Amino acid sequence: MMNKKDLIIGVDFGATFIKVGLLDIHGHIVRKSAFSSKGYISRDKLIERIALEVNTIMASERPRVLGLGAGVPGPVDYKRGVIYGLTNVKGWRNVPLRDMLRKRIGMRVFIDNDANAACAGEARWGAGKGYRDIVCITLGSGVGTAVIIDGKLYRGRGYSAAEMGHICIDRNGPRCNCGAKGCIETFLGNSYIVKAAVKDLKQGKRSVLLKLADDKYSNITPKLIDQAARMGDKFCIDIWKQAGENLGIGLTGIVNTFNPEIIVIGGGLSKAGEMLFGSVRETVKRRAMKVFTGDLKIKRARFIEDAGTFGAAALATLSLRGTK
Ligand SMILES: [Zn+2]
Repeated sequence: MMNKKDLIIGVDFGATFIKVGLLDIHGHIVRKSAFSSKGYISRDKLIERIALEVNTIMASERPRVLGLGAGVPGPVDYKRGVIYGLTNVKGWRNVPLRDMLRKRIGMRVFIDNDANAACAGEARWGAGKGYRDIVCITLGSGVGTAVIIDGKLYRGRGYSAAEMGHICIDRNGPRCNCGAKGCIETFLGNSYIVKAAVKDLKQGKRSVLLKLADDKYSNITPKLIDQAARMGDKFCIDIWKQAGENLGIGLTGIVNTFNPEIIVIGGGLSKAGEMLFGSVRETVKRRAMKVFTGDLKIKRARFIEDAGTFGAAALATLSLRGTK
């Protein structure tokens, strides 16, 4: 049984930053830290560095720490604790991260895909708390997704299921990193949104965006698009509306398949708020089967910046609960 004073470590294994958090079992951060993962040529050196950070952050609390959860950006066999590969980092094929970390920190370790982790965090302590059937979407450089069915993460045969960012919503759409065309990700991923905006601006669309970007296309970011939209710039408001409609079209198929109680949308783009969410809700309501949309909730995630750390810690608490 878990004790009120027990603590958990969450590790967000990002492609550029590693974040480590020490949390209590109610999801409150006790201590946290982060470091850049750039410049670590050897995999083992980076794992050494993570272990050092973990050992430092829990120093005096070690007897109270039950275990560690880590969310990684790529497909994972959570049962064997092995990373199949990282989406944007080379050299991480079939890495037994769980055992490598366990050896260095001397406690139980659980690893999983970062989208699954984010979903576990929302289900345990966030917007999905109290629901049994949840779909989670994380809008970042890619589109991370996870499904919880009757309280459990759906994993599929190889444990990598629910890559719904790669559902096709336009058979002639842009080429996706996965090799296919017109995936949801090619309409909602950060770089695709920026690329589409730049293309329109070059064709003469009027907007304050370029001015905000100091007249350099390369300075345009989703954050800047959001800033312009909040200033009332029609071109940028339309970008969010369009993004919301595209996401809504993708979600329609997902709603018709899984009949979730709630869809939780997080990640940087979710900061666009009602400009995006209004359009998502309206599209899903208009397109999905009525029997599924009656009391369907579509909400913003509670955890945005620290979603990975909270999620990884939530995974560890769920796994510990399941095994004890
Ligand atoms: Zn794809």
